[in-house]
Amino acid sequence: MIAAYDRSNVFARILRGELPCRKVYEDEFVLAFHDIAPLAPVHVLVIPKGEYVSQADFGARAPAEMIVGFWRAVSKIARDLGLDPEGYRIVANHGPNGGQLVFHFHVHIFGGGIMGHSTG
Ligand code: 5GP
Repeated sequence: MIAAYDRSNVFARILRGELPCRKVYEDEFVLAFHDIAPLAPVHVLVIPKGEYVSQADFGARAPAEMIVGFWRAVSKIARDLGLDPEGYRIVANHGPNGGQLVFHFHVHIFGGGIMGHSTG
């Protein structure tokens, strides 16, 4: 079972300005910044401005306006980063068994190269 939201998680601390980040974009709904350990030429994380543990939590509890704002921001960020409109990858790891390490919902945007066909 996924634990309740813990305000000491690293992304909450970035949102509060307690830890630095290489910011890419910010609006009322999201903050986006470069991953500290990039796994692709472009590797950006997008996080909502709210206390959501996981994508399931976000989908269940976030106001519709926030959900729309979040996904519009993801598309805008990909465009503004100059990612290939024909291909980039968005990943959300859900839960400890899904590879989630930071329990503040986030999506990874991977780009800057040809993505192989993979679910791994
Ligand atoms: P998850 O496995 O939870 O989907 O991914 C968490 C991501 O957060 C990892 O790719 C990791 O490199 C990144 N990360 C962890 N700590 C920090 C940090 O302090 N700053 C930034 N920018 N990224 C971080």
